[in-house]
Amino acid sequence: MRTLLLRSLFAKPVTVPAPRPDALPQATEDALLAELGRALEMRTRKLFGRSITIREVDAGSCNGCELEIHALSNAYYDLERFGLRFVASPRHADVLLVTGPVTKNMREALERTYHATPSPKWVIAVGDCAVSGGCFAGSYAIVGSVAEVVPVDLHIHGCPPSPTDLLKGLLALLEQTNMENSVS
Ligand code: SF4
Repeated sequence: MRTLLLRSLFAKPVTVPAPRPDALPQATEDALLAELGRALEMRTRKLFGRSITIREVDAGSCNGCELEIHALSNAYYDLERFGLRFVASPRHADVLLVTGPVTKNMREALERTYHATPSPKWVIAVGDCAVSGGCFAGSYAIVGSVAEVVPVDLHIHGCPPSPTDLLKGLLALLEQTNMENSVS
């Protein structure tokens, strides 16, 4: 009992860890988000003349990538204000955001989702697992990366990628689509 008392008397206070040295100050982060949002909104309106719709497909992820994707809909990132919307059905989607290595159990579901999405459509592989199998590469339970099952237009690396990385990826996809449209 005495040991416990002494230990708690001299124990250091438990504090919140210091921010990472590479973390941006909040004001800079807010400004970056506003700039990305404006660019996304401009490109979306120019290319589609309407909102673009996104269907998320978990092809076997650990759900870490889903947490970051869900954050895009929270009050801070609020993706909808930039003209991008998540939808429940691939039949209403322009873009498929696919996470995770593709497991053998999810292969058919991913293929069916891809074929149910009307053209023109774009596929983004989100996270290291979707790009290359990540930490699950070589597992008996997976088929492999998303590109081994359906055509992929853009890869977003990270484990998991942050909501800002996802916004940058969506913007890169719209820029790429814009360039292809102007070439053709
Ligand atoms: S990339 Fe990382 S967070 Fe995303 S599914 Fe793979 S292990 Fe999970």
